[in-house]
Amino acid sequence: MRENGRIAVVGAGLSGAVIGRELALRGYKVEAFDTRGHIAGNCHTERDPDTGVMVHVYGPHIFHTDDTEVWDYVNGFQTFMPYKNRVKTTSGGQVFSLPVNLHTINQFFGKTFRPDEAKAFIEEIADTSITDPQTFEEQAMRFVGKGLYEAFFKGYTQKQWGCSPTELPASILKRLPVRFNYDDNYFAHKYQGMPENGYTDMIGRILDHPGIAVHLSTPFSRAQKDDFDHVFWSGPLDSYLDHEFGPLGYRTLDFERFTHDGDYQGTAVMNYGDVDVPYTRITEHKHFSPWEEHKGSVCYREFSRECGPADIPYYPIRLVKDKEQLEQYVARAQQETGITFVGRLGTYRYLDMDVTIREALDTARAFLGRTAENAPMPVFVKSPI
Ligand code: UDP
Repeated sequence: MRENGRIAVVGAGLSGAVIGRELALRGYKVEAFDTRGHIAGNCHTERDPDTGVMVHVYGPHIFHTDDTEVWDYVNGFQTFMPYKNRVKTTSGGQVFSLPVNLHTINQFFGKTFRPDEAKAFIEEIADTSITDPQTFEEQAMRFVGKGLYEAFFKGYTQKQWGCSPTELPASILKRLPVRFNYDDNYFAHKYQGMPENGYTDMIGRILDHPGIAVHLSTPFSRAQKDDFDHVFWSGPLDSYLDHEFGPLGYRTLDFERFTHDGDYQGTAVMNYGDVDVPYTRITEHKHFSPWEEHKGSVCYREFSRECGPADIPYYPIRLVKDKEQLEQYVARAQQETGITFVGRLGTYRYLDMDVTIREALDTARAFLGRTAENAPMPVFVKSPI
């Protein structure tokens, strides 16, 4: 056990909390700083004072993973209630099931296909001339064909990313499966659930250790780095380096809150595929806690737009221009010592919560596993590039 190692963790979200706890358990004195007035970063949940509904303040977060260690880890801090993410989408005046599955295909084409028939049909309408899809559009045209692409993906993606799907990488769509059965579970992972008392309660418990002091509404400046033996930075990479190479591109979200007496849409997430509907989706938060009962309802209409300097960054864009800047930032960051960049913002990647926790555990282990106290620690345990 260490007596006097002082660690700063910048950002009290998932990355910061997990790293902070692992180090506090080994005797380090951890100080966590967050510019916001609450912990949990963009996973933050809070109860709506009027309705009592648990609200996902920064948009829907559903926990899903194949990683047994990560699943056991989160279950150590919270009871996870059974939850399956079943997303619907409204397109052209009808409601369909997502991800694209046999029900979607049969409804969309007015058919009664069995799995093999649907597979053969999609293969017939798909653009098989595309052998190695590079862009989002090519990936969609290859795997679902023009009709489904235009109804469910083209408009939504244009709204979500603010550019044409021809400019986006295929990897974004690869997150979503196409199924030739009636399985409408959005995720294919072994474990899925929702924390009974919300993510903020869970992260509060992770941070609840005598070795951790949390400073909210407290920015951390580069000048403070020397007060600590090591800094784990989960804020934006470009902001640590004073935006030397210009701001890295992010999408931000605006939420238009409204309430409803009763059940507004009958499900937690309704996407809107049509480009002329200005929002991407409506979230009805009480359906994220199906084990609770609330008469009133809180809903968010979700709008995506380019992130300005005063906005909260959500999705890293990672187009060619951003990647070039990113390379400059990474090279510049590699010259630093005594700091490790972690998490979605610190490594400028589109990270799910389970991957964030996995990487945080690996980062803490890399730090604790160094052969000597003052042995160098990598600036990036997980490369952003
Ligand atoms: N997407 C789409 N239509 C939908 C849902 C998703 O076109 O109805 C696209 C969109 O570009 C999105 C990507 O698929 O960014 C990945 O979807 P996912 O549901 O994983 O996005 P997230 O929930 O992380 O925003």
